[in-house]
Amino acid sequence: MHDVLNRLGLQSLNSGVCSSSWISNPSGGEIVSYNPATSEPLASVMTASRADYDRVIEQATSVFRSWRNIPAPARGEVIRQLGIALREKKDDLGLLVTLEAGKVLSEGRGEVQEMIDMCDFAVGLSRQLHGLTIATERSQHRMFEQWHPLGAIGIITAFNFPVAVWAWNAALAAVCGDTMIWKPSPVTPLTAIAVQHIVNEVFTRNGFPGICQLCLSDGPCVGEWMAADPRLPLISATGSCKMGRSVGETVARRLGRSLLELGGNNGIILTESADLDLALRAVCFAAVGTTGQRCTTQRRLFLHTSIADRFIERLIRAYRSMKIGNPWESGVLLGPLINSAAVDRMLAAVQTATDSGGEVLYGGRRIERPGHFVEPTIIRARSEMPIVHEETFAPILYVMTYRSLDEAIEQHNSVSQGLSSSIFTDRLTESERFLSASGSDCGIANVNIGTSGAEIGGAFGGEKETGGGREAGSDAWKAYMRRQTCTINGGGTLPLAQGVEFDLPEA
Ligand code: NAD
Repeated sequence: MHDVLNRLGLQSLNSGVCSSSWISNPSGGEIVSYNPATSEPLASVMTASRADYDRVIEQATSVFRSWRNIPAPARGEVIRQLGIALREKKDDLGLLVTLEAGKVLSEGRGEVQEMIDMCDFAVGLSRQLHGLTIATERSQHRMFEQWHPLGAIGIITAFNFPVAVWAWNAALAAVCGDTMIWKPSPVTPLTAIAVQHIVNEVFTRNGFPGICQLCLSDGPCVGEWMAADPRLPLISATGSCKMGRSVGETVARRLGRSLLELGGNNGIILTESADLDLALRAVCFAAVGTTGQRCTTQRRLFLHTSIADRFIERLIRAYRSMKIGNPWESGVLLGPLINSAAVDRMLAAVQTATDSGGEVLYGGRRIERPGHFVEPTIIRARSEMPIVHEETFAPILYVMTYRSLDEAIEQHNSVSQGLSSSIFTDRLTESERFLSASGSDCGIANVNIGTSGAEIGGAFGGEKETGGGREAGSDAWKAYMRRQTCTINGGGTLPLAQGVEFDLPEA
């Protein structure tokens, strides 16, 4: 299984910093990457010092000057080839995601598929970066918008989607004409290096080295440098609300642009008319899948009182049947948490919940075996309990009951995060109420589908403390470009807008 490190070019590399080519012996600290299912080290890499970082940024800003002039469809052609290269490496890269981030294998491969989907999307987009033509009030004038590349941009990513989130940003940024510096999570450095190898091969073969750069950090420091760096007009940051608050403030202080994809606290409402078979599968995947470590993981379940007991009973039976184990083994649905600190945070949340009146209906404990395994957990709770308002990055599901849909929606919207939400119902009036302006306040609202597992074609992101950013599909590309409004006077006079007169006296 560990041969995969060799196949992805990770056998002898000790550098986690790449501009046009790998910087040998970068002078930052060392990071050891561990397999969370066994706690065994996989490999170690060296990270960037401030001097290495400056070298990378200078290269990215210099390469931008030529990349921005390459026609967008030609930039798209490079991304098309990246998609092909990722298809060839899908199984190996997916396995590495599983080994380093602890996701079950189908989810590890699913992440790489998401990268491929993003490349396909961006190739089409490279011929559609179009602006509007707008009617003008002035005779013989023409007004239109055009979009230009922004510059070298910073991409900060979280451990739980160690490759897909980079692709959400990078595929769009590249066709938009930006260059980019990626600072991945220090917990998942190897997947980032493996992606960088694939990127280097494709971009260098096409004569464009240095468009996508990598700068590993043994903590947040490279991310902090990026946030404060005026050479980077856009910082796209994915991670916790705490991180987003810090990055957002720092970028705003220099009047830069930030795109924030932060924590969620996602809820599903099960109405009286819900198809409970459908809902059961959706809740299990949303609450337990990825061991509760998705930003879109379901953390809150609102049950109509008429179905609550019946559904909880079925849910507990389903939880009991789920196979827990090494994420690369077939049939396993629940792998480890990322590290021992995550286990401690989960146990502390369970304790806080019970201290404030919650009742553990299933799970709640660490599993004694190598690695960082926990039981998937169901807690009967009340919406006003403070712990229910926090995002604990672990498979804890808080279950609450309600009598009217208005009450359920009010409870649902009472948290500070606003990423993903769902309702299960067979009634049109209920789903329409949920999707209305006074319904779900989240960036994603689903009917008869769980909270997690979005497709890349839609814009992905959330409201409130989730940060307001949108990535991936739809018109998310606009965040990576600057808009220019142009007006051309094709006549021989100079009429002024709003009828303003400014006639000079005869000379
Ligand atoms: P984290 O906030 O600890 O770290 C995320 C990244 O930010 C890492 O690369 C980290 O080194 C860096 N970082 C941390 N503090 C920083 C600072 N002050 N300045 C600059 N960079 C800093 O998050 P995590 O534990 O890696 O990931 C889990 C979190 O990410 C959860 O809250 C989850 O909901 C969120 N997430 C959100 C989305 C989304 O699209 N909304 C997607 C994935 C994960």
